[in-house]
Amino acid sequence: MTTTHPTQPTAQAANHPTNQAAPTLPGLRTETLSRTYPSGDGQVLALAPFTHTFPPGLTAVVGPSGSGKSTLLNLLAGFDEPTTGRVVVGDTALTTLSEADRADFRLRHYGFVFQNHNLVSILSAQENVEFPLTLAGMPARQRQDRARELLALVGLEARAGHLPNQLSGGEAQRVAVARALAHDPAILLADEPTGNLDSRTGERVLGLLQRAAATGRTVILITHDRDVAAQADHHLSVKDGVVSLED
Ligand code: ADP
Ligand code: MG
Repeated sequence: MTTTHPTQPTAQAANHPTNQAAPTLPGLRTETLSRTYPSGDGQVLALAPFTHTFPPGLTAVVGPSGSGKSTLLNLLAGFDEPTTGRVVVGDTALTTLSEADRADFRLRHYGFVFQNHNLVSILSAQENVEFPLTLAGMPARQRQDRARELLALVGLEARAGHLPNQLSGGEAQRVAVARALAHDPAILLADEPTGNLDSRTGERVLGLLQRAAATGRTVILITHDRDVAAQADHHLSVKDGVVSLED
C-alpha cells in the first residue's frame, strides 16, 4: 500500500495524543456486583458481590482458571448482565442503558484486547485499526491518518498492508492493541493478552498497555502470569469468585 507520510520516528509517536494526560476521563467502579449462573439443579456463584473503584492506571487481575476473571471482565464491559449490583462508568450505570445504547457507549469509552487477537482476517492491519473508527463514523481520510499513527505507535507502520495471517502472533497482538486504542478509550480491558506470546513479545505488548495506563486511562489486565502482574500499578486476585485487593 502507499503511504503519504514519512515513517514516523518513535519519539514522535510517543508524543501522540494517545500518550498525553487526559485528566477528565471517566472512571470505572462496581457496586455489589455479582453473577450467578444456573448449573444443573443449583447455581454457581461465578462472582461474589464486589464493590470497588478502579484507580486510573494498570490493574492486574490474577487467579486460577475458573475463578471468575472473565465473568468479571464481561460484566465490566456490559457484555453480561449482573445478578446483583452495577457497573458505573463516570456517572453512567451500564444497567440503565438499553442494549443499543450500551453498545454505543462501549464503542466510545472502551477498548478490548483478547487472548487471540480477534483481528478480522480479510482486513489488513491498517483496516483492522480503522474498523472501530469506521463504526464511530469518522471520515475516511481522518481515520486512515489515525490508524497510521497508531500502527507507528506499536512499531508496525511497515506492516500496514499485511493481512492478519501474514503477521506473527506478537505483531497481530500489537495491531489488536492499536485497534483497541484507536478511539482513545477511557477504559481498556485485556483478557490474557500475552497468554499466547513468548515472554519478550509479551513484554512489548505489556509495555503498550502500561503506556496507555500512564495517561489516566483505566487499564484492566487479566493474566495468569505473576511476572506480568508484578509490573502492574494495582493488583486484584480472584479465587472461587471472590475478588480481593492485593495492594
Ligand atoms: P476464569 O476466566 O477465571 O477462568 P470464568 O469467569 O470463565 O473463569 O468462570 C467462572 C465460573 O463460572 C466457572 O465455574 C465457570 O464454569 C462458570 N461460568 C462461566 N461462564 C458461564 C456460563 N455462561 N454459564 C455457566 N457457568 C459459567
Ligand atoms: Mg477466563
